Amino acid sequence: MNKKITVTLPLLPDLQEFIPYLEDIWDRKWVTNNGFYHKELEKKLAEYLGVEYISLFTNGTLPLITALQALEIKGEVITTPYSFVATTHSLLWNGIKPVFVDIDPKTCNLDPEKIEAAITPATTAIMPVHCYGIPCDVEKIQAIAEKHNLKVIYDAAHTFGVKIGGKSILEYGDMATLSFHATKVYNTLEGGALVVRSAEMKQKIDFLKNFGFAGETTVLAPGINSKMDEVRAAYGLLNLKQVDKAIEARKVVSDLYREGLKDVKGIRILAEPQGVRNNYSYFPIFIDEKEFGMSRDALYFKLQEDNIFGRRYFYPLISTFSMYKDLESARPENIPVATRIAEEVLCLPIYYGLENQEVERIIDLIKKR
Ligand SMILES: *Cc1c(COP(=O)(O)O)cnc(C)c1O
Repeated sequence: MNKKITVTLPLLPDLQEFIPYLEDIWDRKWVTNNGFYHKELEKKLAEYLGVEYISLFTNGTLPLITALQALEIKGEVITTPYSFVATTHSLLWNGIKPVFVDIDPKTCNLDPEKIEAAITPATTAIMPVHCYGIPCDVEKIQAIAEKHNLKVIYDAAHTFGVKIGGKSILEYGDMATLSFHATKVYNTLEGGALVVRSAEMKQKIDFLKNFGFAGETTVLAPGINSKMDEVRAAYGLLNLKQVDKAIEARKVVSDLYREGLKDVKGIRILAEPQGVRNNYSYFPIFIDEKEFGMSRDALYFKLQEDNIFGRRYFYPLISTFSMYKDLESARPENIPVATRIAEEVLCLPIYYGLENQEVERIIDLIKKR
């Protein structure tokens, strides 16, 4: 049996290099609450990402929840059904009604042409996702938000290190969130961050992620506990040193898939965004069952027989889950593109350490079907 290949593997720092950091943490005995490595990682991430104000979190879901709380978002928020379920869950955690808007098949991101029709007097914000690390149409979304006086919170979980024309994608919108989960391009095992626009707002976020404490005896709001500990922060510093190398390796895999699959009938590949520093976080392909001669699910299970485990990100759509499916905007006829794409998509393995010959084997298996 061939070696098992999964959709991703975590980028891990060198264990020997990590041990002195652990020894130092043990010596300091300051293991969480804005410790030495926590401060260091915030500083280094701000530099690397090209942003001014960033707050670390314990995962990529709590910054979404906290962003909505900090901006006092209420009523309805326009969002995409084509994402990881955490995006929309953050709205329910704040008592907000999600309003799903369809996606653009060329990017899998919110279709800006369809946003305005979904705005009602109750709409207060837009929560788009830069799906697969491909930037949303940030200019159009900004223009709509300004016209209708809406906030924009980007779920940028897939977009670590992505830049447009040299500017960080995280600089768009009122806030942007990151996930440093093990499956992402950059990880701290579990972890995440919230990027904001002012020192005052960062202060507020730092209070909110520490129960709302603003000093020893003052609590400003019902905050959450989402403080990153020193072990993860140190791990994050080490991984930051090798993330560029990992993105380079992902590009090699992405180029091989593009070349190998470009002429296969019934397979659609998203265009690589131009003028963008990409991070190659996912490699989705879209199967047209009639042209390809096999359904997406049939291919998905066929590859598994050869020990290759892609993932159907994002199937099922968020809008089909029980807590969302009764919303008017969740009806398939209101989000036809997302509904179709969710049936077509298969994300192929892509990670640092995936070997060229393994990629070729996957390409050959897909071509043979
Ligand atoms: C991974 C992910 C999240 C959640 O991040 P966690 O760190 O796992 O909490 C949120 N949104 C999207 C789009 C994601 O892919």
